[in-house]
Amino acid sequence: MYAQNPVRTSFSRIAWVLVAIGLGAGLLHTLIDDAGANDVIYLAATVQLAIGVVAGLATHRPPASTWAFVLAIAVFSTTAQIFGAVGSGSGWQIASESGFLAVQVTLAIALLLVTVRRSGTSLVRSLGDALIVSLGTWILIWVLLIEPSIDAIVEPNVVTGLRGVTLAVSTIVLFLLTSLLFSDVDRTVAVWMLASAIGLSLLGDLLYAIDKSGHLEVANRFSNAPYVTSLFLASATFVHPSVRGLSHRGSIRSRRPVLGRLILTTLALTIPLVVVSTMDPADGLDRMVRTVSLFVLAVVVTARVAQAIRDNARSQAVLLEMAQTDPLTGLPNRSLMLDHIAESLDRAWRSDRRPTVLFIDVDRFKNINDSLGHGVGDDVLQAVAHRLRSMLPERTVVGRISGDEFVVLDPQSHATGDAVHLAERVLAAFHEPLHVQPGDVFVSASIGVAVASPTGSLTAEELLRNADTAMYRAKDAGRNCIAVFDESMLERVTQRLSVETALYRALERRELRLVHQPIIDITLGDVVGFEALMRWEQEDGTTVSPAEFIPIAEETGTIVPIGAWALLEALSHLREWIDRGVCPVLASMSVNVSPRQLHDPNFTSVVSEALTRSRIEPRQLWLEVTEGVMMAEPDQALVTLRRLNTLGVRVAIDDFGTGYSSLSLLQRFPIQRLKIDRAFISGLADDVHSRSLVKTIIAMAEALGLDTVAEGVESVRQLQSLADLRCAKAQGFLISHPVHPDSMESTLAALERFTNWPKMR
Ligand code: C2E
Ligand code: MG
Ligand code: MG
Repeated sequence: MYAQNPVRTSFSRIAWVLVAIGLGAGLLHTLIDDAGANDVIYLAATVQLAIGVVAGLATHRPPASTWAFVLAIAVFSTTAQIFGAVGSGSGWQIASESGFLAVQVTLAIALLLVTVRRSGTSLVRSLGDALIVSLGTWILIWVLLIEPSIDAIVEPNVVTGLRGVTLAVSTIVLFLLTSLLFSDVDRTVAVWMLASAIGLSLLGDLLYAIDKSGHLEVANRFSNAPYVTSLFLASATFVHPSVRGLSHRGSIRSRRPVLGRLILTTLALTIPLVVVSTMDPADGLDRMVRTVSLFVLAVVVTARVAQAIRDNARSQAVLLEMAQTDPLTGLPNRSLMLDHIAESLDRAWRSDRRPTVLFIDVDRFKNINDSLGHGVGDDVLQAVAHRLRSMLPERTVVGRISGDEFVVLDPQSHATGDAVHLAERVLAAFHEPLHVQPGDVFVSASIGVAVASPTGSLTAEELLRNADTAMYRAKDAGRNCIAVFDESMLERVTQRLSVETALYRALERRELRLVHQPIIDITLGDVVGFEALMRWEQEDGTTVSPAEFIPIAEETGTIVPIGAWALLEALSHLREWIDRGVCPVLASMSVNVSPRQLHDPNFTSVVSEALTRSRIEPRQLWLEVTEGVMMAEPDQALVTLRRLNTLGVRVAIDDFGTGYSSLSLLQRFPIQRLKIDRAFISGLADDVHSRSLVKTIIAMAEALGLDTVAEGVESVRQLQSLADLRCAKAQGFLISHPVHPDSMESTLAALERFTNWPKMR
């Protein structure tokens, strides 16, 4: 809400009161048939104008030029009226008419300045329409008023001439006034008041001229009434606070004045034509003036129509361009890219050219958006667009088809080799950092390459889809690389789609089950816990690995119900083993959790319900999350993990060392265990680098007070090395493969040998 300024409010009220008084005074002037009383009204109107103008100017302080114009108009009109009243001789009359002419000229100049300043881009258009209106009016005034008054030998010629010129200037004033009202900018209250004041004074001029032309007698009380109201409106203009913006550039109106403009211009064209064609020219001069005026009118109308057509064509071109370009980078969008691809396929038909499409996806762009903000994300996209455009050859077309996906079309490539070469150049271009506001950013890209078939049977959509499919393969292959499309990729996509559909029903069809891998304490050799791992046994007996279906479940959201099921199932197995004395009472259960589950607002209650139903202590449950959770939307994950910690549930970072977690994130996140990824363990016994890495990870965990579990232990030497490095716990095929819950009893019995493990050292 705006705070109301009391001075502004009261001045705007006074202005409207002046308008009301003006209307009343004008009406009174027409009703009273007494010259003396009318003179008093006129005088009062003039005096209030002087007061209003001075008060308004002093309060609102419009630019100095306004003062000059107001002063000039005041001086000219006062002297003109005094001269007109004082003497009836021709000298006085000439002086008086010259004064009125000077008023019109000053008014025209002032209006010209206001109109030019207020209406910026729409000026030419509104001037064109205004010219039509005033030319039409001029023809009417000429035929009906000026021409007859030249003939009538009522008054000396100089006076008549001056009056004619004043009327001509009035048409210019009318012209400027209409352009001001026709323009695309907002008309403020002051603009309306000023326009009405000038309009009424023009009406007064017209009535006066009609009277003087001898056609019709117009009594003074009628012809002066518009002036009276006009004087009040003029002072209201200066009193109203919006006078301050009178000569400023106005804001563009949301709705353009099309209808009013059309009606006025049509009337201005038709009425003069009717009048001219029904009234014969009086003499040669009349004929000449009519012909020239009509000719000018015709030229202006033609020019205006031509301009309207051009305007229309231009705005259509702008609209089309807007619909086909990406507003962020200015590159062609998907629809335009498809047009370009289709065109290049058409041209390549029966030539040896095979157009190529590169589908480029910026790797981990979501991380940039999440960690640096969307503003920086936009800057990165613009920088990528700029880099692509500047490094690619002229013949290629670059487009951005959505989010972080760019497409390059090479219409002139001949073979797959050319395409791969181009893709390699693009990949290399990403190796240089991008310069954006907070500093340099490194990004990589995954590129899918698709080449048009030699038979030319592919459509633009198909070629683009192939490049997209290949890009996904590049992503699967570890990002920052190129994949060239082949038909087998489509089969994979189809297969993925069928997995997606089948996964929806896997839970209700009881096709999912859990297997468990024991975790031992390296020092004691005892089994201290288990990790639950999911398996999907499809109807036809094939088992799908979680590495294949978990990412799909994650993407489609099915992981939320599936994950909830896994939690309860795993804890129920643990409860059963404890109850049957298969495992120690304090053994723990580790359950893998996907980022999507952590972002589910119900997750904490799902966990506590599973704990309650299985009667397992919260500290016996470990939730395993990957480093990715800390990267994407870390704040939300942080809140959920903290809540779980409060329950007593503990959190482990799975596959530690393969992601990008920073030390500061490790410190910020409520975690209690690091699981060292299999990749480091496999090289542990022979590779010095792996060994020093594992050593460092264990030292860091120790410093942060975290538990350590080595994953994927496959040999005694690895276990020995881990023991030497003082790693706390281990799991892996050496100890046990993941086993069915029913087999756990026998598995643990067989594991008895690890109880002797300390003796092995
Ligand atoms: P993870 O949590 O890191 O699980 C360890 C994976 O390593 C398991 O693969 C396990 O079978 C395998 N493994 C264990 N010891 C050895 C070894 O000595 N050598 C080798 N080569 N591999 C070993 P699995 O069962 O295929 O699971 C793969 C991944 O799928 C898991 O990695 C986990 O990230 C995910 N996953 C499994 N079950 C679930 C689940 O219920 N929910 C969620 N969200 N993810 C799951
Ligand atoms: Mg795990
Ligand atoms: Mg792991």
